[in-house]
Amino acid sequence: MPHILIVEDEAAIADTLIFALQGEGFGTTWLSLGQEALAYQRQTPADLIILDIGLPDISGFETCKQLRRFTEVPVMFLSARDGEIDRVVGLEIGADDYVVKPFSPREVAARVKAILKRVGPSVAPTSFQVDLERMQIQYRGQPLSLTRHEFRLLHSLLEQPERVFSREQLLDAVGVAADAGYERNIDSHIKSLRSKLRSIAADAEPIQTHRGLGYSYSPGHS
Ligand code: CA
Repeated sequence: MPHILIVEDEAAIADTLIFALQGEGFGTTWLSLGQEALAYQRQTPADLIILDIGLPDISGFETCKQLRRFTEVPVMFLSARDGEIDRVVGLEIGADDYVVKPFSPREVAARVKAILKRVGPSVAPTSFQVDLERMQIQYRGQPLSLTRHEFRLLHSLLEQPERVFSREQLLDAVGVAADAGYERNIDSHIKSLRSKLRSIAADAEPIQTHRGLGYSYSPGHS
C-alpha cells in the first residue's frame, strides 16, 4: 500500500485529501510544517509527497529543494496561486505535478495514482540479493566477500532504502558499542564496503554520504 505524506497547514484541506486518498487505499501521514516533512522523509520515506506551497515555516518550494538533495520521491505541489510562473518554477525545482486550490480531492487522488504508476513501484528493483541464512549478499549477481560487520552494515542500509542513518544508528545495527572512535569506525567500514562494490560496478554509488548526517542506500544509484 503506497504511503502518501501530506504537508499542508490548513486542517480542512488536509482532511479532504486524507479522506480521498484513504478511500483509494493509500496510507497517509499529515504534517503541517516543511521542516517536519524533511525530518519525516529522512526517517520513514513516503512514496509520494503532497506539498502545500504556503507553509508557516519554510515554503513548499524550499522544502522541495531540500528534499531533492536526498530523495527522488515524487512531489505534487498544492498552490493557492494560479499562475504560469508557479507552474514553471514548481516543475523546475523537481516537482512532478501541480494543482491549484480549490481542487477536487478525487482528482488529486487520481493524479497521485497516475504519478505512482509512472514512476513505478517505490521499491526499485534492487541490485542486491540478501541471503540471511548464509550471511551472504550478492551485488549485480556477484557474491560480495564481506566481514561480519560489513554484512550487518550493508544489510541495515538495504532494509530501508533512502533512509539516512546516523553513524550511531549504524553502529547500533552492527552491534558495536559506541566509543570515542565510533565515527571513524563506521566510516572505515563504509569505505571498505564501497571499494568492494566499486570493484563490481565502478560507476555506481549505492551508498550515499549525507554530510553531517550519515549514510543511506539509494536504489537509484545502484
Ligand atoms: Ca497553506
